[in-house]
Amino acid sequence: MDEIIICEKRYFSFADYIKTRFPYKVCKVSIDTNFGCAHKEHGGGCAFCSLLSYRPSYIDHTKEVEEQWLKGCDNARKRYKKYYAYFQMGTPLESNVSADSLLTARKLINYDECVGLMFGARSDMTEKSVLQELNTLAGDTGKEVWLEMGIQSTHDETLNYINRGHSYNSFVSKVNEIHDTYKNIFVSTHVIFGLPKAEGVIESESEMIETILRLNKLPIKAVKYHHLQIVENSLLADIYKKSPFETLKEAYYIELICKVVSLTNPNIIIARLLGDSHFNTLIAPIWGTNKSKIISKINKSLEEGNIFQGCLLSN
Ligand code: SF4
Repeated sequence: MDEIIICEKRYFSFADYIKTRFPYKVCKVSIDTNFGCAHKEHGGGCAFCSLLSYRPSYIDHTKEVEEQWLKGCDNARKRYKKYYAYFQMGTPLESNVSADSLLTARKLINYDECVGLMFGARSDMTEKSVLQELNTLAGDTGKEVWLEMGIQSTHDETLNYINRGHSYNSFVSKVNEIHDTYKNIFVSTHVIFGLPKAEGVIESESEMIETILRLNKLPIKAVKYHHLQIVENSLLADIYKKSPFETLKEAYYIELICKVVSLTNPNIIIARLLGDSHFNTLIAPIWGTNKSKIISKINKSLEEGNIFQGCLLSN
């Protein structure tokens, strides 16, 4: 299952959000529509991305999506009572495949144990008709619909270098459009720290922090923070193998993420604190510490520094 971070005090985690919303335990069940990513097929894809590196190992993508969902719920039943259907992989709402995805979405949302839908989405590939339909679906069922729309950095120089395929301003327009017009849809986003913005040059700390301060002002409900992980079968892997560039060290990342927490708008859910690509595809950085230990170290640092989400923001 997509990990839910348990920390109720220092920052607003997704687990905390779940507790405010539901009287029972809820997790995400990832499914793979097998539609892949239109940006990868037609635009080369984001330089950091290898689709397989983030497909959860419990997904059997050869099975029908509804079967994947039922199996995912069964696997999680001992610990959780209800589930989000998480259309995690690729671009399931892109125009060529959105009709099929929506067909599946309508089936899954009607399961009693489904509390809502989450979709991986791109701000440049989410059409009005799809937003309208999702908005209606959420309104009619009273269940949640989330779009997980990555931005990674708010700096166009970086977005160009990593071949994101759209600008920061176009992302802002889409987020505002959804907020203003499709009130039943929640938007979450992803940020990656340590991205290169030119050959051999990674973003400075002040640029990374600027991204957080800009996102604070947008109507987004949740953010997932990641450190850049260079994984096999990605464009960055090719670049890195030819000419290795700096990646973030574990100790620095812990320091950075504490600063980031202190500067994140406290109304935004921090749904992830670091990246978690499959270890067997990871090229760099190799930290040699597992994810839960790093999260413990981050929590300890937050405690020691008496840091709370948003504590360094001025009003
Ligand atoms: S990050 Fe998303 S949009 Fe970019 S290539 Fe990967 S799946 Fe496609």
